[in-house]
Amino acid sequence: MKEIVEVAVGLPVSKTFHYRIPEKMKSFLQVGMRVLVPFKGRKVTGFAIDLLDQAPEGIEERLREVEDLLDEFPLIDPSMLRFCRWISNYYLYPLGEVIKTGLPPGLQLKSELVLSLTQEGMEGLNKGGLEPIQKKIFSEIGRFGKVNLQKIIKMFPEEVSRSQLFFWKRKGFLNIDAEVKDRQVKPKFERVVQYRGGELLKPLSKKQTDLLRWVGERGEVPYSELNKKFKSPSKAIQSLQASGLLAISYKEVLRDLSARSELKAYPKPELSSHQEALLTEIFKGIYSKRFSPFLIHGVTGSGKTEVYLRAIEEVLNQGREAIVLVPEISLTPQLLSRFKARFGENLSLLHSGLGRGERYDQWRRIWRGEVKIALGARSAIFAPFKKIGIIIVDEEHEPSYKQEEKLKYHARDLAVVRAKQEEATLLLGTATPSLESFYNAQKGKFHLLSLPERIEGKPLPRVEVVDMKGEGNLLSEKVNAALRKNIEDKKQSLLFLNRRGFAHFILCPDCGFTFKCPNCSVTLTYHLKDHSLQCHYCDYGIPAPGSCPQCQGQRLKGVGIGTERLEQEIRDLFPQAQVGRMDRDTTSRRRSHQQILKGLESGTIDILVGTQMIVKGHDFPNVTFVGVVSADTSLHFPDFRSSERTFQLLTQVAGRAGRGDVFGEVIIQTFNPDHYSVLKAKDHDFIGFFQEECQFRKALDYPPFSRLINFRLTGNSEKGTKAMAEALGKVGRLLLEKKYPKGIEILGPSAAPFTKMKGKFRWQMLVKGKSSQQLHQFAQELASQMEVQTKGRGVHLDIDVDPVFIL
Ligand code: ADP
Ligand code: ZN
Repeated sequence: MKEIVEVAVGLPVSKTFHYRIPEKMKSFLQVGMRVLVPFKGRKVTGFAIDLLDQAPEGIEERLREVEDLLDEFPLIDPSMLRFCRWISNYYLYPLGEVIKTGLPPGLQLKSELVLSLTQEGMEGLNKGGLEPIQKKIFSEIGRFGKVNLQKIIKMFPEEVSRSQLFFWKRKGFLNIDAEVKDRQVKPKFERVVQYRGGELLKPLSKKQTDLLRWVGERGEVPYSELNKKFKSPSKAIQSLQASGLLAISYKEVLRDLSARSELKAYPKPELSSHQEALLTEIFKGIYSKRFSPFLIHGVTGSGKTEVYLRAIEEVLNQGREAIVLVPEISLTPQLLSRFKARFGENLSLLHSGLGRGERYDQWRRIWRGEVKIALGARSAIFAPFKKIGIIIVDEEHEPSYKQEEKLKYHARDLAVVRAKQEEATLLLGTATPSLESFYNAQKGKFHLLSLPERIEGKPLPRVEVVDMKGEGNLLSEKVNAALRKNIEDKKQSLLFLNRRGFAHFILCPDCGFTFKCPNCSVTLTYHLKDHSLQCHYCDYGIPAPGSCPQCQGQRLKGVGIGTERLEQEIRDLFPQAQVGRMDRDTTSRRRSHQQILKGLESGTIDILVGTQMIVKGHDFPNVTFVGVVSADTSLHFPDFRSSERTFQLLTQVAGRAGRGDVFGEVIIQTFNPDHYSVLKAKDHDFIGFFQEECQFRKALDYPPFSRLINFRLTGNSEKGTKAMAEALGKVGRLLLEKKYPKGIEILGPSAAPFTKMKGKFRWQMLVKGKSSQQLHQFAQELASQMEVQTKGRGVHLDIDVDPVFIL
């Protein structure tokens, strides 16, 4: 039996730690279980990642014991642990935090610091002689008996600090103890009444007879249901239980209501010859039981979803399991209902609307093998299956696969890694492949499959570009005419504008004043509905003032339009039309998004105005016209992927048109009619776009021709953050000179494009390299040197590894 356990704690510390295993745990503790361990005066949850016969040299005497064992079974199996180790290495992120990211929330037991008065403290309070503040706080603690340290600090933020409390502890007035409060997420049990039957030993009352029949007909009924159905049934149930006719037990119930929503049939169609050909290749991959990565480049409406469904069916036949990633699950109700109709209960949906308990239940259904398919947004890549046969990433180009906080992983890249580790088939599907993926396909790392045509030979829409230079109005005459015609023909139209709100910002023409967010380096957006100015990056918002706060001028005016204003203009222009709007403001309520799409489906909406939410893979046959109000917003974004993003958005939004029997039409309005993103989208020419964009990337040595790691510094102080950034630059360049004379380039440090965000100042330094391995080694060394420098300086270093492949 092993003596020592290596533990990765769920905290931002890069090391792992060793603990002694108490005698009583030795025969139970396994790798992958959670343990509660003492850590810096606290108790925290960690994961057992290795068991050893003896401690690594030199630390034996400092070893402490594991405090508690939190699981009966390992939560992570060896292959999941291997996956997490890979992630931890690649993204330079603590292993314990990676494991935590992969588990449902609510499994982190930890201690809290709890205050109580010592004898001396109590006497001080009774006898007097304390300072007024001390008295106030001690009597508060005395009133509770025991109270959370954080709570006291929150109650008296001005009067008391953490160090003050610890000072009183040292003086002998206070006890400060680490106590563990169990706030873990738990399975939910429900009391059920079961029918047992048998001989009647004594006559039953009417109520008992009714009750018995009710349960008898159903076999098993939740107690709560009987409570509703029969008036105070507990006595009757008790006596029926006593005579053995009924039994009461507890059953685990699933806390997920969304899984049981309405089912619409999605009959299996006859496959098209293109689909057939693709599946032949994919099946070969599935049967090989080896890592088989495919990039499916299928134009919009080419029937990719059906390919996914058939591939999954085959994987299930082989007794293996499937993970399906979609960009944002709430935005893809159509895809979802197709999956539900085909696979029913065999599907676990992991979406952001799930509560803690629901998420935990879904996780356990997967973990126990009760479902074979997990469908969800990026975190579904951690679904705890044990026999993965296929991983599918729909719309693989979508930026939302990248998590921008904490562990900055890219779910598509993790899909590649996990599929590789599990010897599974990988399908990356899209009409607009990311440059990285297509490049990988060209290099032969992915097997490229194409669906070059829409289903049933439907043509792709005709796209026209309108130059807005010299146009005075928001909508060109051409767009107006197309909308008017569609209303007359009882067809539907989409209008795409990638900015919500009424006016982009408010300007005083007299003095040039604009309203800026105090927390972020952006202007505030005007919203008409509640007459407010809002920041789209943080929660900041104020009522819109009537006059300029700087010069008291009365002529404040809105500049740049958003979807709210567009909607109003359309209503004014076409009073006879039903106009809808879909953006973050109109979809904040649960199901509101689905309702808008229903309006489109049932034909109660003639024109739908929206942000990129309307771009997502919807399939509405009566939509025949799509207008892009401005292609320029995304084009000017300060990011080297802005052209790629623009091409993707334009192609995807255009792809919503003409999916039915009527030819589709698209008009793109832009001030940059000659930009290749616009021109290639107009011609549905992905390959042409790819080639042109590659020239630009190659010239500047950007991905996919190099790899990038961004070192980001954030801090509350502008000066402090800048100084730390300069230090980072110095340390980085020194390291470069000394150990990496070739192959790595440092850009910056410089202020980030939006220097201030959510009240924090942001600086960054880009590191570029040809070899991923070398770049990572460099980054690791730099990070560990900086760990010392940033300690206690109020500046946080974040490492962001650009999505690049790993194969
Ligand atoms: P994509 O995801 O490639 O844009 P979809 O999967 O949404 O395309 O398919 C487009 C439309 O074609 C959908 O309405 C779908 O039901 C239909 N479809 C897919 N495959 C077939 C098929 N083999 N026969 C007939 N209709 C099909
Ligand atoms: Zn803000």
